[in-house]
Amino acid sequence: MTTATDTDPWRTKYYDSLGRLEEQQLQFRAMETALKRLVGRLCTAALGLAPPLDEQLRKLQAVIRRETTAEELEKLTPALTEAIGALDHPLPPPLTNPSDDGVASDERLRSILGALLLELRRDAELVEQADALDQKLSAALTSEQLPDVLATLTDMVGKRIQHIERAKEEIEALLGHMVGKLDEIGQFVAEQHQNQAQSQASSETLNTQLVGEIKAMGETVETAKDLLQIRHQVRSRMDAIDKHLKDFRQREATFAAAISTRNEQMRSRILELEAEARRLQSQLQDEQRASTLDVLTGIPNRQAYDKRVDDELHRLRRFKQATCLAVWDVDHFKRINDTYGHRAGDRVLRVVADCFASRIRSTDFIARYGGEEFVMILPGTHLEDALRFGEQIRTAIAEIGFHFRGSPVSITISSGVTALSPDDTAGTAFDRADKALYRAKQEGRNRCVTV
Ligand code: GH3
Ligand code: MG
Ligand code: MG
Repeated sequence: MTTATDTDPWRTKYYDSLGRLEEQQLQFRAMETALKRLVGRLCTAALGLAPPLDEQLRKLQAVIRRETTAEELEKLTPALTEAIGALDHPLPPPLTNPSDDGVASDERLRSILGALLLELRRDAELVEQADALDQKLSAALTSEQLPDVLATLTDMVGKRIQHIERAKEEIEALLGHMVGKLDEIGQFVAEQHQNQAQSQASSETLNTQLVGEIKAMGETVETAKDLLQIRHQVRSRMDAIDKHLKDFRQREATFAAAISTRNEQMRSRILELEAEARRLQSQLQDEQRASTLDVLTGIPNRQAYDKRVDDELHRLRRFKQATCLAVWDVDHFKRINDTYGHRAGDRVLRVVADCFASRIRSTDFIARYGGEEFVMILPGTHLEDALRFGEQIRTAIAEIGFHFRGSPVSITISSGVTALSPDDTAGTAFDRADKALYRAKQEGRNRCVTV
C-alpha cells in the first residue's frame, strides 16, 4: 500500500518531468521552425543551378511548408544527393576564389581578352598599355589579378571612346571650317554679281550722257547764230564728253581693282578648301582602311569580306564570270593554343595569313573570317582551277617549318571550295563551302574538298 506521503515525491517528479518535456517540446518546435526557415532560404539560394536539382529543391520546399515526418524527409534525401552530386562535375571553379589559379588556364577568357586588346591596339595611344597588359595575360593570371586586369581594360576602353569622340570632333570642326569657306566663296560670287550690275549701270549712264551731249550739240548747231558760237558750244560739249569718259574709266578701274582683289581672295579660298578636302578625304580613307583590316594579321577582316562578296556576286550576275569561294580552317588549332600558348597560336595565324596574302593574285581576295578561319574569293576562276590553287596553298602551309620551344611542329589547314552561282546569296555560298570544309575535316583534315 502506498501512502499519500509515499506518492507525493513521485507526483512531484512526474509533474516536473512533464513540465520539462513540455519545455523541450516547445524548444524543439522553435528549432524546427527555425530549421525549416533556413532550409527554405537555402533552397531559394540554390535554385537555378541545374534543372534536376531545381526539381528536388522544389519538392523539399513543398514538404517543409506543411507538417512532415522524419521518414518523409528521409525519402527525399537520395534524389537530392544525386542531383547535388551531378553538379560537382560541370560547375567551373568560382572565379572569386583567391587561391584558385584556374583563370589562367581558361583559354576562352584569355582569347576574349586578347581579342579585345587587339581591337584597342588600333589606337596608337593605347599600344604601350596594351603591350603591358598583353605581357600580364601571357604570364600566369590568377583570379586575384582579374579585377585589376578588367579595371585596366575598362580604363582603356574609356580612353578609346574618348579618342574616337575627339577624332569625330576634329572632323566636325574641319567640316565647319570648310562650310565657312564655302560661305565666303558664295559671298564673293554675290558681290561679283553686284559689281557686274554696277558696271552695267555705269555703262548705261555713260551712254545716256553721250547721247545727251550729242543731242545738245546737234541742237547747238541748229540754233547757233554764228560759227564762233558753234565752235564755243562744241568745245564745251567735247570737254563734257571727255569728262564723262574719264569718269567712266575711273569707275571701271575701281570695279576692275575690286574684282581682281576678290578674284585673288577667291582663288586662295578655293585652294585652301581643296587642301582641306584632300586632308579630310585621306583621314577618312585611313579610318576606313583601318576598320576593314584585321588587327592581328593585317589582312582584310570579315567586314571587308561581307562587302567584297556582295560586290563579286553582283559582278558575277552581270558579267557571268566564273568565281569561286574557299573557306579555310586551321586544323587542330586548339591543340596549338593549349600546348604552346595563345601567343604561339597568334603567330601561326599571322604566318598563315602572310602565306595566303603572298600567293593570291591581285584580283583575288583573302580575309580572316574570325578565329582560325579564313575566306578566299577567286574571281575569273573555275572550280577545278580553284581546287588546284587551293591544293598549292594547302601544301605550302603544311611545308612551313614552324618551331615551338625548339621543336619542329607541322601545321595543316583544310578547305571547302565552291563555285558561286548567280542565284547565290553571300549566306548560301558560304554555307555550301563550309559544309565542304566540314567534310574535309571528317575525311582526315589537311585537304581541300570541293562541292
Ligand atoms: P578543327 O581541326 O576541327 O578545326 O579543330 P580546332 O581545334 O582547330 O577547332 P576549334 O574550333 O575546336 O578551336 C579553335 C580554337 O581557336 C579555339 C579558340 O580559342 C582559338 N582561337 C580563336 N581565335 C583565336 C586567336 O585570335 N588567337 C588564338 N591564339 N587562338 C584563337
Ligand atoms: Mg574553326
Ligand atoms: Mg580549326
